Amino acid sequence: MAKEELECSFCGRKKPETNLLIAGLDAHICDRCIEQAHGIVLEESKQNDSSDLSAELKLRKPQQIKAFLDEYIIGQGVTKKVMSVAVYNHYKRLLQPPSKDEIDIQKSNIIMVGQTGTGKTLMAKTIAKMLNVPLAIVDATVLTEAGYVGEDVESILTRLLQAADYNLEKAEKGIVFIDEIDKIARKSDNPSITRDVSGEGVQQALLKLLEGTVVNVPPKGGRKHPDQKFIEVNTENILFIAGGAFDGIERVISKRLNMQAVGYSASMSDDVVDQDHLLQYIIPKDLKDFGLIPEIIGRLPVLTYMDPLDADTLRAILTEPKNAIIKQYKKLFLMDNIEFSITDGALDFIVNKAIEYKLGARGLRSLCEEILTDAMFELPSTDEKALNVTKAYAEEKLTKTTLKKLKAVS
Ligand code: ADP
Repeated sequence: MAKEELECSFCGRKKPETNLLIAGLDAHICDRCIEQAHGIVLEESKQNDSSDLSAELKLRKPQQIKAFLDEYIIGQGVTKKVMSVAVYNHYKRLLQPPSKDEIDIQKSNIIMVGQTGTGKTLMAKTIAKMLNVPLAIVDATVLTEAGYVGEDVESILTRLLQAADYNLEKAEKGIVFIDEIDKIARKSDNPSITRDVSGEGVQQALLKLLEGTVVNVPPKGGRKHPDQKFIEVNTENILFIAGGAFDGIERVISKRLNMQAVGYSASMSDDVVDQDHLLQYIIPKDLKDFGLIPEIIGRLPVLTYMDPLDADTLRAILTEPKNAIIKQYKKLFLMDNIEFSITDGALDFIVNKAIEYKLGARGLRSLCEEILTDAMFELPSTDEKALNVTKAYAEEKLTKTTLKKLKAVS
């Protein structure tokens, strides 16, 4: 074929009419057709997204889910196991074809009880990462009944839609983590709660979402407005994970255990109650006595607890998870060709300070930051090729003032 006769084999445009004509084995394609084809490919892959989700979910059995969690989260064995089963069952329910029998598999929404900083949010984040589903993290304390100052419960779904880039199908298979659920406990049953816009009202409003319903959601958030277009979101297949510290619930548990001990002295006297870890005995009734309404508890059927973090766990959190804090600093320094190392003594020192000043796992990061800021500021401009942080170095950088400051922000 002579050069001037070349044309796009898809649209027939002659070479001079195109910006670019790419030659294949027996054919040519012009820039416009490439763009069009690219659009078709994008469209197709969008449609296949949901089947990707199914394929991926089928691959993970509960033990594999737990193994994944183990890579990122230290300890919390009981909760990891309970969550793995609940998540597996939830998505199994979601992937099954509509059944003809009468058996409806109930949603396995989860509630986690444990002090702040023990990894509840991390657990929800890691599950969402593993499943590659959108995650919305919301704070129950900002939720109020419709009509009050604050956010309506629908705003939870706005967040989920945003996390899913407004892909409704993805959002409807996503995860919502509701933090501080204990703060909307009913006031009358729980004298330690000082604010009460609407504790019970919010619980009532949450009920429907948890159970599965179609909600009109303002896509950009904010108050419902007659002119705003709504997106209808079905919450039937959304997995809700609630978390809360439930400060003082140990007293409720202890009281119940003591009463049981009186009532059934024979059977209870055989079991020694571990007074230091009372959360492990938690049952739904304790949540009710704390002030959650029974309907909410019923819709969060999987109840589990987080262990407080001891020194060994904190130490492991610093170095072991896949993206452990120390690993992150190593990587950062390496980008400047600086070999970063830290002695066991320095690690123990950091852990001890975190415990002494009650900073928890969140404090580990701030402590490291305080210790390393000078080095991160100075070393990149020097010829230094190594930094070894010893206990003495860490002690020198962490003055009483910085510790006081960290305590104040934690
Ligand atoms: P919570 O939601 O219970 O208040 P977070 O999940 O926000 O606690 O935990 C705070 C931080 O502490 C996390 O970002 C994580 O780095 C760290 N952390 C807490 N618990 C663990 C754990 N068991 N394993 C690994 N990291 C943890």
